[in-house]
Amino acid sequence: MEYAVLVDPAKCIGCRACQVACKRWNDLPGEVTTFSPEWTNPLKLSFNTFTHIKFKFEHNNETDEMKWRFFNWRCMHCKDPACAPACPVNAITKYEEGPVVVHTDRCIGCKFCVSACPFGIPQFDADTGKVSKCHMCYNRVPNKEPACVQSCPTDALIFGPREDIILKAKKRAQELNGHIYGDVEVKPLGGTSFIYVLDSDPSVFGLPNVGESVPATVSALKYSKFLLVPAAVGGLLYLVAWRKRRMEEKEE
Ligand code: SF4
Ligand code: SF4
Ligand code: SF4
Repeated sequence: MEYAVLVDPAKCIGCRACQVACKRWNDLPGEVTTFSPEWTNPLKLSFNTFTHIKFKFEHNNETDEMKWRFFNWRCMHCKDPACAPACPVNAITKYEEGPVVVHTDRCIGCKFCVSACPFGIPQFDADTGKVSKCHMCYNRVPNKEPACVQSCPTDALIFGPREDIILKAKKRAQELNGHIYGDVEVKPLGGTSFIYVLDSDPSVFGLPNVGESVPATVSALKYSKFLLVPAAVGGLLYLVAWRKRRMEEKEE
């Protein structure tokens, strides 16, 4: 069965319990942080930070009201992820339950997935030469909900079968007079396993509109391994022929 998480920024209070729960479940170290004008802490996702609460200041032009918006950000776990086919060593797996997982032991640090992801999610670490990201708690799901979901005190994150989550998202979108993000805007990626209900434009939250067609760079990287393999085979054949010619020259 396929599962999903509903992300409801209108319910998020910015407490960062999800960030802490993710660190604890994955045994990830804390990071030295500095004050930022955006108040976020840490500033962004990293090799050791799989989920991040973004703070955005929203200004309503009609009422001139200002308000803080908080929301949880991490891998979207796309149904047809651009990162997985871009990986030349098959280090990224999309599971039928929903999670897209980087198998760090297989990662060679080429960063193709970093370039392929339209959301800027995979994080490269120069010390280990590896990439990491949220794995949708594939080592808990479906017996237990993801650690971040379990820790959320306001139900801004809800886990369940994807079909139920879609129904909940539609109902919530009606209540908020908002819309669902993770469907139309990300159509080239087949939808996502983290689905947002937004009561404002995606740009307020800094969410990209991936659009109707996969950008050319993403498309090229997505299928790059199909170019790399023939190139590698061609290179090998050239080397064999070159070596044979050198041996023949020596014998003459
Ligand atoms: S958001 Fe990026 S890293 Fe996550 S599954 Fe989609 S393409 Fe891959
Ligand atoms: S950096 Fe990304 S694409 Fe490259 S090997 Fe690692 S997981 Fe695969
Ligand atoms: S799903 Fe798991 S790995 Fe991903 S952000 Fe939540 S706690 Fe972290």
